[in-house]
Amino acid sequence: LWPLVLSFFLILLITGCIWILWRIIIRQKKLETMKNDFISNITHELKTPVAILTATNEALLTFGGSKDPEKTERYLRLEQDELHKLQGLVDNIMALTRLEHNDEPQETLELVSIPMLLKTVGARFSGLPGVQIQTAIQVAREELLTQPAALRTVLSNLLDNAIKYTPSDVKKIMLTVTESPQHYRFIIRDYGIGIDKAHLPYIFDKFYRVSQGNLHTVKGYGLGLSHVKSLLNRINGTINVDSVPGQGSTFTIELAKR
Ligand code: ADP
Repeated sequence: LWPLVLSFFLILLITGCIWILWRIIIRQKKLETMKNDFISNITHELKTPVAILTATNEALLTFGGSKDPEKTERYLRLEQDELHKLQGLVDNIMALTRLEHNDEPQETLELVSIPMLLKTVGARFSGLPGVQIQTAIQVAREELLTQPAALRTVLSNLLDNAIKYTPSDVKKIMLTVTESPQHYRFIIRDYGIGIDKAHLPYIFDKFYRVSQGNLHTVKGYGLGLSHVKSLLNRINGTINVDSVPGQGSTFTIELAKR
């Protein structure tokens, strides 16, 4: 009987290994396809701002900017918008490169003032139409030791998402800082489209985007949250999400106190 039981377990083991290997291959293939799509989409998207910048610049050079200040200003504003788009695309490409090579720039630890940090991050979004960011700081000591640029990027990415995925005209977002004996907690709450439970385990994966709701009108490449996760790894942080479709999402970051 023993040889039979043994061969049964052996077959089970081999089948298990083949299955795991198969899953890894499929996942690799899927990632490869998503990466190729990313490259072809981003290349395509680079074309439009470059074409607009070339045309406006040619026009400015041809009619001589100083002769018509109003027209010049219109053209320069157009150029500024397109340059912002280009910057966003370049940021995405750089985020992917860093993720792939795991080479986030290392920073030294600095004592960061929490009110200043929230002010700096909030300022990037304050001019956007309808955006209302409410902050609350509920900690005994309003300073923490961390890598400031990494933490700023994490918070900016989460606020950016909170705004992107809130379709209403008024985009209310709460950014609260609390603490426990071992951690600082940064809580970002939005009242946007929310995320279905089935998608929650995957949203931190590279290239993952929820294929529902108003997604087609929201630009993105599914890199923001994986970038956030990799930055948090570096600064001893974790992230969790709670979400109710139609009601909004809450992302909670925990940073270990140093
Ligand atoms: P991107 O926003 O570029 O698609 P992310 O990695 O930042 O990529 O997010 C992955 C996906 O998670 C998004 O495509 C979106 O479906 C979902 N998501 C992220 N943040 C939110 C949010 N605050 N509200 C609703 N959905 C969100």
